[in-house]
Amino acid sequence: MSTSKYKRVVLKLSGEALAGGKGSGIDPAVIQSIANQVKDIVELGVEVAVVVGGGNLWRGKAGSEMGMDRASADYMGMLATVMNSLALQDSLENIGVQTRVQTSIEMRQVAEPYIRRKAIRHLEKKRVVIFAAGTGNPYFSTDTTAALRAAEIEAEVILMAKNNVDGVYSADPTIDQTAVKYNTLSYLDLLKEGLAVMDTTASSLCMDNDIPLIVFSIMEEGNIKRVVIGEEIGTTIRGNN
Ligand code: UDP
Repeated sequence: MSTSKYKRVVLKLSGEALAGGKGSGIDPAVIQSIANQVKDIVELGVEVAVVVGGGNLWRGKAGSEMGMDRASADYMGMLATVMNSLALQDSLENIGVQTRVQTSIEMRQVAEPYIRRKAIRHLEKKRVVIFAAGTGNPYFSTDTTAALRAAEIEAEVILMAKNNVDGVYSADPTIDQTAVKYNTLSYLDLLKEGLAVMDTTASSLCMDNDIPLIVFSIMEEGNIKRVVIGEEIGTTIRGNN
């Protein structure tokens, strides 16, 4: 039987990953497939916290480019992550996985507020904790949320599931045929080369707190488990390589 390399992980799901081929909105079949993959690793005994993005529904930057106040547009983005989180919670509970959604913006009728100690307690009880509403602050991203929450709950790794790429490349592989995939990278290289894996706030937070990140494709069923049992798919980014 396979065993997990990690005790506690943060899984970062971008909003786009929930949209599947549709590009925007929520694809119930895709969300269910992700939920099944999460269940697989919960069954291995891994404590799983999920940070969900919102880019499939709304991005603050796009709103501000259309003339909206940036902070208001960002709050809309954070609310979008709550919708995605509830959809994921529903899919997980449909297949018998216990979950709690915690939001960084209080909305007690909908979910628990984010309380670090409570989140850790849920994880210890093998409930999947879904962190919604980003950091609760405009001008940040859900990648930064993943880095922040991973540090707070002392997760060993961030698993960054992508729907359009299977790792980090030297250039955009859809445009540049000579682009090569990296197996490992350092955060410093990531920052120096300006590789578009996550924003610089998120990368620096991971670097400063020594949190490794694995970027991989979620489109292949079973990949979350592969990463968790230590198969080297995707790209691993660490403090020093
Ligand atoms: N957002 C924010 N603060 C946060 C996290 C998210 O303002 O701490 C807003 C921001 O407008 C962002 C949107 O929420 O565009 C959706 O999050 P993100 O773009 O990170 O989602 P993803 O790209 O992962 O789908």
